[in-house]
Amino acid sequence: MVGVAGLVDDRGVVVVGGGLAGSEAAWQIARRNIPVSIIEMRPGVMTPAHTTSDLAELVCSNSLGSDGFRNAAGVLKEELRTYGSLIMRCAEGARIPAGSALAVERQRFSHLVSSYIKRSPNIHVLREEITDIPQHRPCIIASGPLTSHSLAQSVTGLTGEDNLYFYDAVAPIVTMESCDLSRVFWGSRYGRGGNDYLNCPMTKEEYDRFYDALVSAKTAPRHEFEDMKVFEACMPIETLAKRGRETLAYGPLRPVGLKDPRTGERPYAVVQLRPEDMARSLLNLVGFQTRLAWDEQRRVFRMIPGLEKAEFVRYGVMHRNTFINSPEILLPTMQCQHDENLLFAGQISGVEGYLESTASGLVAGVNAARLVLGLSPIRFPKETIIGALCYYVSTERTGAFQPMNANFGILPKSDMKRRKKDNRLAIAASTLKVVHDFEKTLRYRLD
Ligand SMILES: Cc1cc2nc3c(=O)[nH]c(=O)nc-3n(C[C@H](O)[C@H](O)[C@H](O)COP(=O)(O)OP(=O)(O)OC[C@H]3O[C@@H](n4cnc5c(N)ncnc54)[C@H](O)[C@@H]3O)c2cc1C
Repeated sequence: MVGVAGLVDDRGVVVVGGGLAGSEAAWQIARRNIPVSIIEMRPGVMTPAHTTSDLAELVCSNSLGSDGFRNAAGVLKEELRTYGSLIMRCAEGARIPAGSALAVERQRFSHLVSSYIKRSPNIHVLREEITDIPQHRPCIIASGPLTSHSLAQSVTGLTGEDNLYFYDAVAPIVTMESCDLSRVFWGSRYGRGGNDYLNCPMTKEEYDRFYDALVSAKTAPRHEFEDMKVFEACMPIETLAKRGRETLAYGPLRPVGLKDPRTGERPYAVVQLRPEDMARSLLNLVGFQTRLAWDEQRRVFRMIPGLEKAEFVRYGVMHRNTFINSPEILLPTMQCQHDENLLFAGQISGVEGYLESTASGLVAGVNAARLVLGLSPIRFPKETIIGALCYYVSTERTGAFQPMNANFGILPKSDMKRRKKDNRLAIAASTLKVVHDFEKTLRYRLD
């Protein structure tokens, strides 16, 4: 076990992991004039995806997503800029042309983050693998999707085995308002469970067309370490389909116990969508965990009747990912419910994506700093993308918890009414107004 006592400043905060979330958290703490130690295991111990010793290394794509306000990812970026995010500052500094997206020169980006952190008099970087959750408080765990094995075991000790997951086998999520409700119907198999599912009925011809597209679609490249065995129930839909033309019609797309109210008949096959949230604004395609490339998911899954114009707020993925069952463990401040001086941030806290990880790091950093200053931790407003993400990961939900990226569907329902495509700029404007007002309340000992 690596102890940190004696190595870190007792008056400050310990951050485990110098990735996107850990670097942002440390920056937010340091700019409030509080000492902070980042403990990063690289280069002594590497993860299967990182290749350098740089802080905030981007392990895959060099794109941080859309930068326009018609998109939640773009609003999230503006929120981060408003709160003085280090990661956004460095992303702008390393920006390369990529249309309406924010893409960066990978090395320049992580060098910039590393050099800002190095120059900060309040931040100390230690290169050690942490094998147990440190005793020091406040402490932020930001060890990412590839958290080392021993630390993951220690987190299990804290959360219980059922509350730490190691793989994402995630089905895509679409917004309810983008479904063609004239082609689908609510109901459960044999009427058990009321109107819990939105059902997309398929004729034999529709099923055959969908099947042919599915089995010939392009899959995303995978890393060697992601070549894991998956449980039968988590098998990618395209792999299952390749077992035979009728496998899906007898499996996840079986129509038994369902009648299409428009025809009074049992359809040939049915795709079921389950609400992800109480407001039923987001729907999960049941059994559709997949490795298809994202553009292929859009193309093939839009062949499902009723989903022709589906808006995907998250695509299906299957990759290694360590994340806690945060609705059972966290508060919207990113503090643990049972130890308010222990916080989680980044992908391990149940958000998904580079900037979502950064955002949760920012919230954890602000709140760890407030704990040191004797101030109450603060909830970021739910009406903003950052606040909504924190609220989403820490709130009870209908099905099993799965990580979430930024999207307008997680905003409160009252905001969603205004969420039609042509109204997105208005939503962005009202969201950013809340952010600007809130930022003023945060200004306490800022640089
Ligand atoms: C293979 C892969 C590809 C991904 N591709 C994308 C993508 O293209 N776009 C996207 O938006 N998101 C992607 N993600 C998801 C996610 O956004 C990134 O993983 C992001 O880097 C998460 O930020 P983080 O700060 O939580 O973790 P990281 O950036 O991974 O930082 C965690 C840090 O903790 C360190 N660490 C781990 N264990 C210990 C320990 N015991 N002691 C000390 N230090 C430790 C690690 O070395 C690492 O530096 C990908 C994830 C994976 C696994």
